[in-house]
Amino acid sequence: MGEFDLIARYFQRPTARAVLGIGDDCALLQPAAGMQLAVSSDMLVEGRHFFADVDPSTLGHKALAVNLSDLAACGAEPMAFTLALALPRADEAWLAAFSRGLFALADEHGCELVGGDTTRGPLNICITVFGEVPRGQALLRSGAHVGDDIYVSGTLGDARLALEALRGDIRLPPGWMAAARTRLEQPTPRVALGMALRGIASAAVDVSDGLLGDLGHILKASRVGARINTGIAADLLAGDGDGHRTEGVLHQQARLACVLAGGDDYELAFTAPVSARAAVEAAALEARTTVTCIGRIEDAPGLRLVDAAGQPVSGDFASFDHFA
Ligand code: ADP
Ligand code: MG
Repeated sequence: MGEFDLIARYFQRPTARAVLGIGDDCALLQPAAGMQLAVSSDMLVEGRHFFADVDPSTLGHKALAVNLSDLAACGAEPMAFTLALALPRADEAWLAAFSRGLFALADEHGCELVGGDTTRGPLNICITVFGEVPRGQALLRSGAHVGDDIYVSGTLGDARLALEALRGDIRLPPGWMAAARTRLEQPTPRVALGMALRGIASAAVDVSDGLLGDLGHILKASRVGARINTGIAADLLAGDGDGHRTEGVLHQQARLACVLAGGDDYELAFTAPVSARAAVEAAALEARTTVTCIGRIEDAPGLRLVDAAGQPVSGDFASFDHFA
């Protein structure tokens, strides 16, 4: 199977939204009147971002999901994407499963594959997504103000637990492992929430490298500091839905480390003025995504972790590496 057969068989599909899709030197996109294009790329490299033996259909899902998550963080609606692929060989079973996982998520979001590049080489997947957002309404990292609430969507930390378990560093009960593994391998980009937060959130970022690190991007861009309530944050671990069993498996500090610095969560962290609390709740309801207020933007630079009683919590979560 040659390069062009491979593209035609596994990646070329009719487009509905794009003016021109795969097959020419460029694809053509036409954003609607009054809309701006939001563009983002994310690359997945074997050994660094995924294990060599990962299920190719979940890899197809994740490669697009991490990109859609960036659109979500900007409040943009997905439109189209390109796919640059380096493949060690033309493995048809692998390509069939990969494209199945990829297109299942693409179709969920009405996001069309419009072009790319295919070459032989060590397995490497680079996707660029294009979305649209009303002019001036993109959610940016730079808009947080002193006094704003800090929220996160969904749950945090389970993807990191799955990673530690797959590496053999910890053991999770089977039900919890299955759920955590889905979080790691098939994250859910919070696209509907990002769009619902247009005009409500003052700043937003998606959590890919760990909550504290990514929240740090908002603080830096907005020139503010923050206080985080670790009593609330520690409960953001989904676990197996049974808090008691969760506590038996992981002690409090390890739970907190997963939530604050786990990574690979693809939730949204965002800020909004206190006056917008009802609007945030309505947006979350509309997007069918839970959101939790975990802290407050402050004038003093830096991040302060406090417990439920307001007492400082120590621990260098940014450099979290191992489980005790
Ligand atoms: P060019 O030589 O002009 O860069 P190619 O011959 O590499 O174009 O690709 C032919 C067509 O197939 C182009 O429209 C390109 O965007 C598309 N394409 C190539 N690889 C992929 C891929 N992995 N997924 C989707 N489209 C692809
Ligand atoms: Mg060309």
